[in-house]
Amino acid sequence: MYCPFCSNEDTKVLESRIIENSVRRRRECSNCNNRFTTYEKFIFNLMVEKKDGREEEFQRNKIKNSLTKACSKTSEERVEEMTKRIEQKILNKKINKISTQEIGKIVLQELKEADKVAYLRFASVHKSFDDPELFKKELNQIIKS
Ligand SMILES: [Zn+2]
Repeated sequence: MYCPFCSNEDTKVLESRIIENSVRRRRECSNCNNRFTTYEKFIFNLMVEKKDGREEEFQRNKIKNSLTKACSKTSEERVEEMTKRIEQKILNKKINKISTQEIGKIVLQELKEADKVAYLRFASVHKSFDDPELFKKELNQIIKS
């Protein structure tokens, strides 16, 4: 990290704080002693392969938006929590490419535990049930539980 005042490369970190998905660091230049703050934000090196074979960069907002749609009665904080857990599960795979179907499966897993009604809504919207019998089975399980 260069000092913005004198371009010296050697800076001391005085304080690190995690704010949302970035790290804020207060630094002091060991040459001119000026202080400044930097933010580090991680960016996924993860590509998503769509059904038609096209690829796009992973966007957590897309997951959050579809969760918000599926869980209409769930609070924003809970949707954010779920998004975080899903993101973590994807990260834990330590891969560079994931298919939309695979993401859908992870989202469904999460919904199944968190919100059964939303789970069914998401599953039907994303047509995860190619087999109507499977859908009936899932539905029955949810009604019984
Ligand atoms: Zn400096």
